Amino acid sequence: MWFPLLGLVAILGAQGQEYFENYYNEIDIDDEQAEIKTRNAMRSPLQLWPSRRLYYRIAGDLSPEEADNVRNAVTTFNERTCLRFEELSGAAPAGSRYVFYKKSPKLCGTRIGYNPIPLLGAGSHDVQLSPKCLATPGIIQHETLHVLGLYHEQSRPDRDEHVVVDYDNIPRKYWPQFMATSESTTTTYDVPYDFESVMHYPKNAFAKDPSQPTMRALVDGNPVEREMGQTRGPSERDLFKIRKMYKCEESR
Ligand SMILES: [Zn+2]
Repeated sequence: MWFPLLGLVAILGAQGQEYFENYYNEIDIDDEQAEIKTRNAMRSPLQLWPSRRLYYRIAGDLSPEEADNVRNAVTTFNERTCLRFEELSGAAPAGSRYVFYKKSPKLCGTRIGYNPIPLLGAGSHDVQLSPKCLATPGIIQHETLHVLGLYHEQSRPDRDEHVVVDYDNIPRKYWPQFMATSESTTTTYDVPYDFESVMHYPKNAFAKDPSQPTMRALVDGNPVEREMGQTRGPSERDLFKIRKMYKCEESR
């Protein structure tokens, strides 16, 4: 029992941070898995992709409509930032990693940021998408922003100035999902806190009782229930951060 578990910790530790999404309160993973994966979530520094040209591949078992949703999702980044997503039809260029959009029965999630470990340098950076996530380009964009290096908005180092978390309404195994990142590993680029971010979780994320919020906004020091997050697509501030991170104003 213990040896396989330790092996799993080692593999996930090397792979870095990974989030499970929970848009539809459909998360269904066992306790050990939840704890291990989320415990690793905040430790590694932000990692950027080495080139503004990113290759991606769409798994063959996606429906034509789902595949088009992925293409439409990444087109936004091509149009609104200096990044260039290029779909692979054949093999990826030698030594380069590619983003691999795959169908998963229930879970949606991916690693945060580029994996700089040379041993794992080539190959795929998997994005797992359930049928519900594949049906929503905004969620595909949310996952793609994780791939590019963005954490959840409610994990910002300064989030305690903006939201209050109600841990009584969250199963203990998901508490790590609500940890704030540290100033030493992340930056806000001085962008104001953004309840409209596609990276912000809904107000009742991971709720035991979804009719009650797990997060409330702080207004003049008082917790107030309000809508948070959305799945229409990246906000202006989300896109601004990507342009800052990948230095889009500077020619290269
Ligand atoms: Zn996420």
